[in-house]
Amino acid sequence: MSPRLRNLMSLEVEGVAADWTKTTCPYCGVGCGVLAKPANKTCTLAEIKGDPDHPSNFGRLCSKGAALGETLSLDGRLRHPMIDGEQRCWDDALSLVAERFRETVDCHGPDSVALYVSGQILTEDYYVANKLMKGFIGSANIDTNSRLCMASSVTGHNRAFGSDTVPGNYEDLELADLVVLVGSNLAWCHPVLFQRLAVAREKRGTKIVVIDPRRTMTCEIADLHLAIAPGGDVALYNGLLAHLTVEGQVNDEYVAAHTSGFDAAVAVAAQLSEGELQSATGLSADECAKFYALFSANERVVTVYSQGVNQSSSGTDKVNAILNCHLATGRIGKLGCGPFSVTGQPNAMGGREVGGLANMLAAHMQLSNTEHGRIVQDFWQSPRIANRPGYKAVDLFRAVGDGRIKALWIMATNPVDSLPEADLVREAIAGCPFVVVSDVERHTDTTVLGHVLLPSQSWGEKSGTVTNSERRISRQRPFVPVMGEVKPDWWQICEVAKRMGYNEGFEYAGPASIFAEYAALTGAENDGSRDLDISAYEKVTVAEYDALAPFQWPQPAGGLPRETRFFADGDFFTPDKRAYLVATPFRAPASKTSEAFPLVLNTGRIRDQWHTMTRTAKTPRLLSHYAEPFVEIHPDDARASGLEAAQLAEIESRSGRVVMRVVVTDQQRRGTVFAPMHWTDQFANNARIDALISGHTDPQSGQPESKFTPVRVQPLNARWHGFAIVTSRVEIASFDYAAIAPIAGGFRLELAGCEVPASWVELADELLQPSGPLDGTAAATQVSNRVGPVIEVVAYHDRSAGQYRFAAFCDDRCVGLFFAARGSVEISRTWAVEQLDQAFEGAERLQLLAGRPGRDVPDRGRIICACFDVGLNQITEAIASGRCDSVAAVGDELKAGTNCGSCRVEIGRLLNEGCFAEAG
Ligand code: SF4
Repeated sequence: MSPRLRNLMSLEVEGVAADWTKTTCPYCGVGCGVLAKPANKTCTLAEIKGDPDHPSNFGRLCSKGAALGETLSLDGRLRHPMIDGEQRCWDDALSLVAERFRETVDCHGPDSVALYVSGQILTEDYYVANKLMKGFIGSANIDTNSRLCMASSVTGHNRAFGSDTVPGNYEDLELADLVVLVGSNLAWCHPVLFQRLAVAREKRGTKIVVIDPRRTMTCEIADLHLAIAPGGDVALYNGLLAHLTVEGQVNDEYVAAHTSGFDAAVAVAAQLSEGELQSATGLSADECAKFYALFSANERVVTVYSQGVNQSSSGTDKVNAILNCHLATGRIGKLGCGPFSVTGQPNAMGGREVGGLANMLAAHMQLSNTEHGRIVQDFWQSPRIANRPGYKAVDLFRAVGDGRIKALWIMATNPVDSLPEADLVREAIAGCPFVVVSDVERHTDTTVLGHVLLPSQSWGEKSGTVTNSERRISRQRPFVPVMGEVKPDWWQICEVAKRMGYNEGFEYAGPASIFAEYAALTGAENDGSRDLDISAYEKVTVAEYDALAPFQWPQPAGGLPRETRFFADGDFFTPDKRAYLVATPFRAPASKTSEAFPLVLNTGRIRDQWHTMTRTAKTPRLLSHYAEPFVEIHPDDARASGLEAAQLAEIESRSGRVVMRVVVTDQQRRGTVFAPMHWTDQFANNARIDALISGHTDPQSGQPESKFTPVRVQPLNARWHGFAIVTSRVEIASFDYAAIAPIAGGFRLELAGCEVPASWVELADELLQPSGPLDGTAAATQVSNRVGPVIEVVAYHDRSAGQYRFAAFCDDRCVGLFFAARGSVEISRTWAVEQLDQAFEGAERLQLLAGRPGRDVPDRGRIICACFDVGLNQITEAIASGRCDSVAAVGDELKAGTNCGSCRVEIGRLLNEGCFAEAG
């Protein structure tokens, strides 16, 4: 064992009780270390805390990470293999997959099959999936949902550095004098990294610039917010490069010694006139000048960027325009300096490492490089090797749609909701002759289309490694027993490969042996010519793998490289070792607004949800922050569109339509709207936002333009609105608007209709007693006469005011509430969800129909602090009363913000700008 590994192992056990398992958070690319321990006999709850020894988070967790212990419920899990909706044994399912893939390849060639995988799977899963497709089937038709997240960064890195190298470390954000966040809502999307930056700013006075069309929560710690016009980043950075050149801020020595392409890049950058710069960026000359002056004045600059840069039809040019400025000033490869792409997913980086993208080989080798192809094929001893790129995600599903791909295996992702032109993607998958879906959940919008469903191990059950945004490889370790028949994704791939006749390449004893093989491949014929080398681990034993502590690559077999920081010596991975400045002429977004579609739709994440909510929606407290899909719009645009706050709006693009709740806010740039990416048909009946997104992609990276879709927004012509609390899931498809969110013991529903129901009693009956009709009419206590538990319903109707209210009880316990009104339903949601399963007698039942707490019980309002269930109204009251004048004071009084800290920035905004109490 290497001394380094021994050292890491001793760190591994230090300070951790034997019954805590060290693992890694399965959400964002920060890659926080987590300590987990089962908290009940069935292991469906766990205690969770941040790992104080993990170098990514040093014990911190955000709201999502802190709630991980509540997401282990077995409800809704896919427990058995299924074929055409019938439960089958593994052997039947795997043999069918192998047979259909084999037949399809034999009849139609290797490019007629495809794998679509995910940044959620582990590196070991990714490695064997890529090996099967590129080395044995012989096609590069394997792509990943990471294409939607950071493909432009990969291409930009390769163009500039000759390798897909993220050169920075998280500590650089703490050592920088200036941190520029471009298209990155770090506060909500990488919260622990944001917290590290916020602490550094308090200690050192770090200057922070945020470049984002929206005034996101991240702006609360910014010295300068540039509300750039969507798509204007290349122009802004070309302007910066031109400014640096004119002002003599270029590091001439560095440029001459270590780069090429400088003159051409500057020539293109300088073509942009002042007027063109302002028109493309929507920023004033003064705003640009302030940013340029800050960049010029600070040697230690880190530029953090993510989806706001990558998800664009000019995403790769945006990346290179940023890299150009760092290369021109030599601000790269040094402490506290450099461009820093932060990934959205927990293992987007691991996927890149093993070749999970259709245009990469494995171990950061290139498909287009025949020598790399030979190295990989020799190493794998594979019958063939793919030598041309496969279909990238958007094209892959087009190829499914037009029949070029006839057998598709989707693993750990939900393309029916997450890809652009999502309705077309749904049609394409539905029409594909053979679809396999490996997933943890039984019911997703994608699993319903699978011919074969393969049950996968979930976080907490599975074992392997992930790589975070700073190239740190950490173990995900199991800490709960594996449920039923579920199996690791790597095992599923290997079993199918063997059944296809590829026995020799896929006999692995477990993830440790896959990891060792992958580590060895990174060192194969690698004399320092490739960035990725972890061959120090090529002989890792099972025990060493189990004890593996987080480490950053590179870690070559011969010991640490001469320079442990990438590019510190000015050498890059291009043939002449020089970095390349790419000329990046400004291009406007591919779509244009018009009279019919005058607003620009931007999509993104919210603080407490993850992707398509299959895990985060298992914990009600994460849904208490935002319980339904919403669209944010500037007050001027809302007025022009005839919209008011909390109304429902239809949002339409050329490819689809959704309905969402309106949030009117001046934090939204005029002319743009924002909607979250998370809601699916499982949680709302018409809020799959990717159905609206066009299929325009970046020509280099294939990444879709998810931040710029022309739309129109108009009020939904709803004639009634409703809110209900129910104990079991109800069918929501038939409503004009419906959103359903789990709560403790049941579900909450937001409803609306464009036609008044023929009978309110019947509707209440469907919602509150899905198994049978109510007996009786309005304004009286009714008792059902169904077989089964007796449900009593108290109802209040005011026809003239258009108010209909129902409360249902079983054995004195509240089992449902339904409030309907012509206009909005003005009741306290936070209070209402807490009434489920509470005991009520006599007049107390009527009190429930008032829809709000009694006078002696305060209405907490929408939940801001998910850890301690602290609501907006509690915080605003504490501020307005003068008792709390700081985030710390709010924490002292209400505990809000004192655990994970994810809500501290929101509390800070309430303190700075003031906020009105609202019905929760
Ligand atoms: Fe998980 Fe939050 Fe850490 Fe991201 S920041 S890895 S979501 S705990």
